[in-house]
Amino acid sequence: MARNESKSSEIADESCIFCLIAHNRDEETTVLKKDKELVCFKDIYPAAPHHYLVIPTEHIISCKSLKRGNIGLVERMANFGKQVLRDQGITDMEDVRLGFHQPPFTSVDHLHLHVLAPASKISTSMDYKFTPGTDRFITEEYLRKRLEKVRPNVCEMIGQFFELK
Ligand code: 5GP
Ligand code: ZN
Repeated sequence: MARNESKSSEIADESCIFCLIAHNRDEETTVLKKDKELVCFKDIYPAAPHHYLVIPTEHIISCKSLKRGNIGLVERMANFGKQVLRDQGITDMEDVRLGFHQPPFTSVDHLHLHVLAPASKISTSMDYKFTPGTDRFITEEYLRKRLEKVRPNVCEMIGQFFELK
């Protein structure tokens, strides 16, 4: 198999713009930070002076697809986004907003964390989209707490059992 073919077969959904970005297949997007698991890039329509998206390379549809075993992923996404903010010169980490839109209020069906700073400078016309505690937008902290309440599935219970041994 040619090298290019094997690269494109890694993409779970060729019609997903965020999968294309994660696999360096979108020339319009500048990736700010990337590792094996996560990618961070600028939102095309920024709602604040700094507005980034953190996505997993894996095609996960939304925060509603996440299980208890994904708490670590959410935490790593948040830490990744905060690191990018620091790299971009943000020092007041109290004045930032990190969160997820929930379906049906999502426009791209690939899990993404919005990272905005300064939160106090989110544009007034877009503020309703990023107001925490609504059905539309939840903070990463709220999502982690919600996932903690989800009962672990059998695989997760077996994993936990072996971790404890
Ligand atoms: P959602 O409403 O689904 O939470 O947010 C999707 C976000 O992705 C929006 O803020 C939108 O501006 C951003 N977005 C959509 N398509 C693209 C794209 O092709 N490139 C980049 N960089 N951002 C995009
Ligand atoms: Zn995708």
